[in-house]
Amino acid sequence: MKRYPLLLILAAFIAALGGILIGRVLITPDPPIENRFHGLMHDELNLDARQRARLAVLEKSFAAKQAMYEQEMRTENRVLAEAIASEKGYGPKVAHAIDRSHEAMGMLQKQTLQHLFAMRAILRPDQAARFDRAMVETLTAPER
Ligand SMILES: [Zn+2]
Repeated sequence: MKRYPLLLILAAFIAALGGILIGRVLITPDPPIENRFHGLMHDELNLDARQRARLAVLEKSFAAKQAMYEQEMRTENRVLAEAIASEKGYGPKVAHAIDRSHEAMGMLQKQTLQHLFAMRAILRPDQAARFDRAMVETLTAPER
């Protein structure tokens, strides 16, 4: 297997994540990219008991942050809808609501990336290699 520099993977990953999150908010709900790595982490990598325990802690903390930022994004989208209704076009309230929504989205992106790399950090080198390969496959998979 070809080795991909981690920074390249990271850069492509952020780009893909941005696209997915924007798609989720503006177009249609899509399974979050993080979910795809859960199947891998839980079913395919043969984690030992210690790794499973560490993963459970990571998941709990991420789930709480994810719920918080998703709630914030829903709230900001509601504010945006109200602003569009009241300003009947693009005005300062609309602009502000868009900024706030992007802020929450950006925070969720950062938390998601941190979580993915926190999960990767508990893996043995052979498991991490599979994790990286799955990441590259996810990024290069054709759009559904
Ligand atoms: Zn996770």
